Amino acid sequence: MLTANEILEWDMDGVPVAVPPLLTVNHLVKHFPVRPGLFGRPSAHVRAVDGLSFGVQEGETLGIVGESGCGKSTVARLLMHLLSADSGTIEFGGSRVGSYGLPMKSFRAQVQMVFQDSYASLNPRLTIESSIAFGPTVHGISWSEAIARARALLDRVGLEPKRFAGRYPHELSGGQRQRVNIARALALQPKVLILDEAVSALDKSVEAQVLNLLLDLKDEFGLTYIFISHDLEVVRFMANRVMVMYLGKVAEIGKTEAVYGAARHPYTQALLASMLSMDPDRRSTQAPLTGDPPNPIDPPPGCRFHTRCAHASDICRSKVPALLGSDPGHQTACHLVDAASGALVFRSEARVAAP
Ligand code: SF4
Repeated sequence: MLTANEILEWDMDGVPVAVPPLLTVNHLVKHFPVRPGLFGRPSAHVRAVDGLSFGVQEGETLGIVGESGCGKSTVARLLMHLLSADSGTIEFGGSRVGSYGLPMKSFRAQVQMVFQDSYASLNPRLTIESSIAFGPTVHGISWSEAIARARALLDRVGLEPKRFAGRYPHELSGGQRQRVNIARALALQPKVLILDEAVSALDKSVEAQVLNLLLDLKDEFGLTYIFISHDLEVVRFMANRVMVMYLGKVAEIGKTEAVYGAARHPYTQALLASMLSMDPDRRSTQAPLTGDPPNPIDPPPGCRFHTRCAHASDICRSKVPALLGSDPGHQTACHLVDAASGALVFRSEARVAAP
């Protein structure tokens, strides 16, 4: 029996074998303390990430989508260990990261991140070739070799080294700076890139160029991407699988074509319905998603989406839905897809048409 995070491949004799993920996240929790109470102790917590589990297969692009505040960027920072998790584990290549497992330095060399803010990510006092070369020198590469690597990467991301190597970040456009950040992330020859809203601040024409560059680099260097974005069209273009988050939890996860073509979770359906359709016949006159997400300090009991869900029933207000699916590659946390939940079974006419 396959788990949701495994895929099937066929060995030389044609026998199917389960392939474990390259990166596995188990029951990750991060609550941020707020409002100091008596004796300075926090009296409440923002439940940014609340028991998240998923896997990332080698060579795939996993898209993570959800509204602002759903916890997707916190996941990225937890994966990079820029934040420490309250509980849960991260495994890479079968070894637990940190503690007595895979050393953090080795993990960081293999998993790199590109942030949304291209300027804040670069040291304004370093030339861009020095910024790119810095990481490899920390990992024992000589300065001359690191500079040679930096120049080769600048060339690869479309910035002619002769013109750009000696420039400072403020002398570049936003798109050029993001190309530098991509080169810098690649300088340690990682296996995984976490792209956190990496193209969101760019003009549409520049965004398209950088997305195509990312696709080319993925093929050329055999990379695995975790692509975080609020832009559903961009995620559809980039990702092999998509994970939809709502208030710190997974609402739905599956192959891109399955999630975009036949979303099962009412929240995913509403998100997709909110995308502008090019076909006037498919445009909805009803607002697919109303109201703001509930306060993550005190999320609703049961299904966290029940305060905004048109299909909510009593069980939704009291019981947390499990992430289930008859197809291990497509799972949904909604009582409507769980025949044993006591909720009305999922009605196809209740779906909101995807654009
Ligand atoms: Fe809506 Fe209930 Fe499904 Fe939650 S579990 S999405 S409230 S139907």
